[in-house]
This record gives sequence, C-alpha cells and structure tokens, in this order.
Amino acid sequence: MSRQSTRDTFVPGARDTDFPIQNLPYGVFHAPGRPARLGVAIGDQVLDLFALDELGLLKDLPCGDRPWREGSLNALLAQGPALWSALRARLAALLDAENPELRDNSAWRQAVLLPQSQVALLMPAAIGDYTDFYASRHHATNVGIMFRGRDNALMPNWLHLPVGYHGRASSVVLSGTSVRRPMGQTEAPEGGFPLFGPSRLLDIELEAGFLLGPGNALGQPIPVREAGGQLFGMVLVNDWSARDVQKWEYQPLGPFLAKNFATTISPWVVPMEALEPFRCAGPEQEDPQPLPYLRQENPRLWDVELYVLLATARMPEPVRIVGSNLRHLYWGPEQMVAHHTVTGCNLRPGDLIATGTISGPEKSSFGSLLELTWRGTEPLQLPNGETRRFLEDGDTVIIRGQARGDGWRIGFGEARGTILPALG
Ligand code: CA
Repeated sequence: MSRQSTRDTFVPGARDTDFPIQNLPYGVFHAPGRPARLGVAIGDQVLDLFALDELGLLKDLPCGDRPWREGSLNALLAQGPALWSALRARLAALLDAENPELRDNSAWRQAVLLPQSQVALLMPAAIGDYTDFYASRHHATNVGIMFRGRDNALMPNWLHLPVGYHGRASSVVLSGTSVRRPMGQTEAPEGGFPLFGPSRLLDIELEAGFLLGPGNALGQPIPVREAGGQLFGMVLVNDWSARDVQKWEYQPLGPFLAKNFATTISPWVVPMEALEPFRCAGPEQEDPQPLPYLRQENPRLWDVELYVLLATARMPEPVRIVGSNLRHLYWGPEQMVAHHTVTGCNLRPGDLIATGTISGPEKSSFGSLLELTWRGTEPLQLPNGETRRFLEDGDTVIIRGQARGDGWRIGFGEARGTILPALG
C-alpha cells in the first residue's frame, strides 16, 4: 500500500471517515447479544471477527489457536507479525469493493457488520505493563528550562538514551472515562511545611502509544533491527499530569503520583502496517550518533498529525489548542524497545509503551499546557473569553490524529476525558 492507494471498500462512505480500507484498526466491543469480542472499524461500521469466524470466513489463516475469537487483543498480540499481516490481508480482501464474497451476501453482511453507534467499545487489551518515555527534544528542553533553568535544560544522558520510567498499567483508561482531579502533596510556599489538597496545576500530555507483542524471554534483549516486529499498532495517549505534585516529588526517582491517577488511550489500535506508507525520518537529526545498540538503519518515525482540542463547561464546542506531529520526536519506538530490553527485561503481549509528550518547535505544537502557557505565565485565550493556565473542573480534552493519504486518511478516533472535581 502507498499514500496513493485507490483501493476502496463496499461499505458506503468509508473513504471519507477515519476508517477507510487502508486503516482497518482493531478494537474490542460488545453489543446486545454479543459478549466482548474483537472488531475492526470500517467506515461507521464494526466488522465482528468472531462472527466472521463462525461463518468460516477466516478458516484459511495459518493459526489453529484462532486468537481472533478472544475478547481482547492479547492472544493475537502474542502471535507476532506474520499472523498480524495474514489476518489484515484477509480482512482487507473481505471488505474490498471488488470482492463479491461478502459484498453480495446480505445475510453474511448483516451477521458481521454492525453500526458503531450500536456497540460499546472496551479496553483493546489487558495491559500488563506500561512504560512512558520522554522522547521529544523540544518537550524535554522546554520542561528543563522551566524546572532547572536554560543552562541545565537537557540532562547529560538525554541525547544518548531514550529516557523513560515504568508507569502504572492499572489506571490506563479508555477514551470517555472521566478523570478525577487528584489530591496530593505539594511544595510549601517559602519552603515551609508542604501543602495537601486538590492538584491546582492539572495538565495534559499529548502522546502516542504502541501496543506490543509477542515480547521476549527474560534475559534476551531485542535488537533495534528486530524491534519493529514487536510493534502491533498505535493508539493516542493523554498522560494526565499533576504538575504541582510532580515538581515536589520528582527528584530523585522521577514521576510517581503526579502521573498514576489516569492515562487515557483511544479505543482503536491502528496497525503499524497501515502506517507504513507514512514512515519518515523527521526533522530531528541524531547528534551525537547513538551507541550501536540504538543505531537504527530505517526511518524511525511516522508522519502522523496530532491535535489537542479543549471544551469547557461554558464552551461545549471544542476548539483546537495544539497541532503537533509524531515526526517531531527524537527517539523512535523501535529504539525504545531496544533500550527497554537491553538489560534482558522481558516485554509481554499487551504491554504499552508511550512516547512522552510530543512537542514540535513552534508554540502551537507544544503538547502540554505547561509549555503552551509557559507554566501559567502566558494563559490561553479561548474564543468565548475564558482563559486557561491549567485544567479546570468540567474541562474536556480530546486528542485526535491522522495520517494523510491521497483522498483518504488513517484516523485514530479520539482519546477524550473530562475533569471531575477532587473528592477532597
Ligand atoms: Ca508522559
């Protein structure tokens, strides 16, 4: 497939949605009479993989375990890229406008295609471990300037390794889940006793996440040239962050409670194969050259536009506040996988890695309010006259993304969350 692909599906209107035949993202859904199962988004419909299998339409795939009959992606993630590719090719063939097999059988179509409006989307996988990186040089530099001053902005390790930390998988939530403002401990004014209360500097982080499989055995590093075989697909991520809690707690071991109360992901997992036509090097040149185990021959990034929109209790129509791009990163996800496992650390099917905030060079591309408002000193002016330094109760944040093909787009749906008042 290329950006010029003219392939189309018989599902009406799909080419003008986030989910044309070039995309085919996986999700987990349930509908009346159908327990949780895998589905693929096509236009405004969901293709039910369990129902397809019941009709014998997946019987020629080279896998006796039939992981597409499960209620989560984990079993499919465990299989690896050969089966991922074969399944994707079969689904694309079944949905192709030129193929009469499903197109001309209305009973089959009725059995396997459901309107997305009639299903509930669930977490696509049981996420065992979640690791968050810090891979945008623009973001790391901006935050460094604010927290440590311009001279110490980028730590000495940053250009030599993809900095990351082990995050919290239990609080990774699906788009649409409300986010409770966390309580926490923050630095006292004038160095007195620390304060305790609702976070006052609640923020977003615009990130991309990669769902992994099949993983590696403990003690067996994954070389960077093989790391692409671990990337199943991409989701949008909002790594909600309590900046006041973070500032007080982050030294010496990094973020802890500032990040563990919620991380929102989008429900549809876009296969890396769908993004392949958009692979690119990005504008960030590696300098200095990384150590050999992090040296990657092929382009490390993808041209995927990423947006943040904000709605408020008084402004229900969301407005765009950020426009960034995955290609602004310095480190790519294959380098992250190689670095993560160089010690022999084992990754497992269903693990999630996220990139860290994706900020570009321009202010309009900064992926957090911390940077957009420069720690609250330059408030955002909203069209209805409101201003924002950080998030207020009732605010809704929506992340969207797209890779632009010729007359179609690979969309991601959205990662959405609304802020609820603190319980304190
Ligand atoms: Ca983050």
